[in-house]
Amino acid sequence: MERTVYVNGEYVAESEAKISIFDRGFLMADGVYEVTTVLGGKLIDFDGHAVRLERSLNELDMAAACTKEELLAIHRKLVELNNIDEGLVYLQVTRGAADRDFAYPTDATPTLVLFTQAKPGLSGTAAADKGIKVIAADDIRWGRRDIKTVQLLYPSMCKMMAKAAGADDAWLVEDGFVTEGSSNNAYIVKDGTIITRHLGNEILAGITRSAVLRFAKEAQMQVEERSFTIAEAQAADEAFVTSASTFVMPVIEVDGAAVGTGKPGPVAKRLREIYLEEMRAKAV
Ligand code: PMP
Repeated sequence: MERTVYVNGEYVAESEAKISIFDRGFLMADGVYEVTTVLGGKLIDFDGHAVRLERSLNELDMAAACTKEELLAIHRKLVELNNIDEGLVYLQVTRGAADRDFAYPTDATPTLVLFTQAKPGLSGTAAADKGIKVIAADDIRWGRRDIKTVQLLYPSMCKMMAKAAGADDAWLVEDGFVTEGSSNNAYIVKDGTIITRHLGNEILAGITRSAVLRFAKEAQMQVEERSFTIAEAQAADEAFVTSASTFVMPVIEVDGAAVGTGKPGPVAKRLREIYLEEMRAKAV
């Protein structure tokens, strides 16, 4: 069935949606995005995503396409029109269409596109009970990974490298330390302490990361925000990743070595339960 999508102020059938070939998102990856999860027909941590979107836009001197209230209304309407119970809403803002030039155009109108993806069973336990395997890959991305831009070719290549190696994803390594997963934040657990890289330009400040660390601290778990190596991950008791659409996902193998028992660990399992319960209760 055709979805209804949102393009620059209009709700249209996906086959009718049109964007200019001069759009700078298409020509130069001059755009930013957000992915908000939907559970029970409601948005998870909409505020967190709206705040990060505003930051991404500011960092790139891009104009906001509309207000936060308008964005929430668009998200809700798309969820309703497309009957989404579990899934996600993808949002992209670009600098707009202009004659091709490296300098930012002064008169372009931002392009705003949103669409939904249904993902029945997203919050179920099937994937989390299995866990995922990650390989290590060089982090050759640009230096402003804190901005959520649509330049996603290297993460895409990483997924293909992982697939070719019989794994699910890659953990990226820079100067000997893990930065993050190709589309998630990376964690290890050692002697009860949860370790994840500190924020900076080297990683995206995950909205899920922020909530999960808050819940971990509230549950009296020890949290250390610092860099760690692949060897340290391989010797850890547990490992996991977080992202809006995978919540807390256990990692059972890092670059060919089983982590801990080689099965999803109790800390990841508990954090996933807490995260889902708390965030469902606050969904809008
Ligand atoms: N790091 C990267 C590189 C990502 O692409 C994502 C997913 N958007 C994350 C971390 C996790 O962010 P969030 O929890 O906001 O989905």
